[in-house]
Amino acid sequence: MSSNGIHPVIAPSVAIIGCGFGGLAAAIELRRHGIDDYTVFEKGDGVGGVWRANHYPGAACDVPSSTYSYSFELESEWSQRFGTQDEIRAYLERTAAKYGVTPKIRTNSEVVAATFDERTGQWLIELASGRQHRFDAVICATGQLSRPKVPDLPGRDTFQGPQFHSAEWDDSVDLTGKRVAVVGSGASAVQIVPAIVDQVAALHVVQRSPNWIGNKWNHKTSPGIRRLLRTVPGLARAQHNLEWLWYESRVPLIYNRFDPLRVGLHAWLRFKIRREISDPVLRRKVTPDYKAGCNRLLLSSDWYPALDRPHVSVHTHGVSEVTPTGLVLADGTTVEADVIVWCTGFSATEYLAPIDITGRDGRKLHAEWKSGPEAYLGVTVSGYPNLFMIYGPNTGSLTNTIIFLLEKQARYARMAIEYSARSGKWLDVRKNVQNEYNERLQHRLSQTVFTSGCAGWYHTPDGKVVAVWPGSHIAYARATARVDLSAYQTGIREVVQQ
Ligand code: NAP
Repeated sequence: MSSNGIHPVIAPSVAIIGCGFGGLAAAIELRRHGIDDYTVFEKGDGVGGVWRANHYPGAACDVPSSTYSYSFELESEWSQRFGTQDEIRAYLERTAAKYGVTPKIRTNSEVVAATFDERTGQWLIELASGRQHRFDAVICATGQLSRPKVPDLPGRDTFQGPQFHSAEWDDSVDLTGKRVAVVGSGASAVQIVPAIVDQVAALHVVQRSPNWIGNKWNHKTSPGIRRLLRTVPGLARAQHNLEWLWYESRVPLIYNRFDPLRVGLHAWLRFKIRREISDPVLRRKVTPDYKAGCNRLLLSSDWYPALDRPHVSVHTHGVSEVTPTGLVLADGTTVEADVIVWCTGFSATEYLAPIDITGRDGRKLHAEWKSGPEAYLGVTVSGYPNLFMIYGPNTGSLTNTIIFLLEKQARYARMAIEYSARSGKWLDVRKNVQNEYNERLQHRLSQTVFTSGCAGWYHTPDGKVVAVWPGSHIAYARATARVDLSAYQTGIREVVQQ
């Protein structure tokens, strides 16, 4: 102990909540920098996060796998440009084992509360089982898209057939020859509908708002190409870098000032609709009336052809009621169905819910975030020292790969934890710094396509955009390259004999 009462922590203990791409990135980052005293709490029964949960028919990545993988663990064996769900899940399991994370994962361990103890400078983590553990720092990697959302509609429990959310696919239900209602037309529906269209007798797609959909330039990777990627030094890295740069070059499309470019994009996307759909009424139904990029630009080469099939009906009003035999839509149309699949998305803006997080002076994170979550760099929140988020507010990746951003957040959290341990102090981002950062962020967002008015999960019900990062990935990497200690206030930990 030094004369000023500061106790450096030789080996900081870290709780990581969640073991999807983000939690695993954090665990590997800690381990690669010699921080071995960490525990990964995972509420599910294994590694993978959304890539474990979402196993619906057709589940695959809509970002090229050469970039939708860790930069330090490039994979040469993807069967196609956009890897499938089972491949991605296996990749994560392999990576966890290779980097020694697997033994540190506690599965079926849901964290229900995290409370900061100002006296010790530690976090008390409470599990659903009632067990409690203390840690010097917490990294929350619970994801934005992990809590399925099914609309609370009248009569939902009266439906006589099976009904389930896309992220909770019921494998015991055979859709062969059934009348199936798919509610929603987002990224999940766009993959599910083409995958089941040949199997079902009738398919009703309830598309409240159409999405802009680009071509998914997918292709199989031949065994020869995979061998080359495996054996030629630098080839997999070159492929990763080229794909990354190609995606990064799309950044201008998020800014309103580049709308002239968007005119060309709209023309191209409309041409795709005309080319893939023969029915002019259906073409009109699926054509959005908002700017492309305002919500997620989806990729599919088989969605429109599937909708154009004779046994598929596209309804353009939302669901207002569920009956024992189907749905009633907002325009009064009744849809008879044997099975309902809710592709209605996730509670994307309720970050870290439902974990009860208590910071300094007893403040409650979810109460403070009532009108929308805010953080500094999407990673730290004032009043919650040594708590870090992976994929926190305003860090959604729209133009490139989210994995890049997750790695940068893991790096930032690790650097802050190292400083905290070395100095024996906890770090708490200053409130004025966080506020100024968010004012700049919202100003920037006001100049982007994300605030141009459309449905989607980027914003809270009040319209505040809290999900996406309004800039390039390079800019985010720069902003998080070092921990600016002047942005933080510090507190001295008091070591308590336990
Ligand atoms: P989503 O994009 O949020 O789509 C939800 C859909 O449900 C929307 O079409 C929405 O309509 C509709 N909806 C909600 N309530 C409704 C109601 N009461 N009646 C009728 N329709 C209703 O959800 P998602 O498709 O699950 O995708 C969420 C995100 O997950 C994606 O954007 C993506 O980031 C991620 N994802 C990624 C992949 C991948 O390959 N990497 C695959 C799947 C999902 P409105 O638009 O009118 O609200």
